[in-house]
Amino acid sequence: MPTSITTVPILSPLDRCDRCGATAQAKVVLAGGGELLFCAHHAREHGPRLNELQAKLFLQLT
Ligand SMILES: [Zn+2]
Repeated sequence: MPTSITTVPILSPLDRCDRCGATAQAKVVLAGGGELLFCAHHAREHGPRLNELQAKLFLQLT
C-alpha cells in the first residue's frame, strides 16, 4: 500500500462546502471512506480536527 497519494481530486465549481454552501475548495477523505467538501475557510477551521481523525485533506488552489 502506498503511504502517500499523488493524485489530487479535482473539484467542480458546482461542489459546495458542506458547512456554509460556499464554493468548495477542499475535499476531505475520511479514514472510514466518507468524503466531505469544505470551502477554504472551513478547511482551515477543521484542519486540526481532521488530522486527529486521520482524514486526508486535499486543497484545490484556484
Ligand atoms: Zn464553508
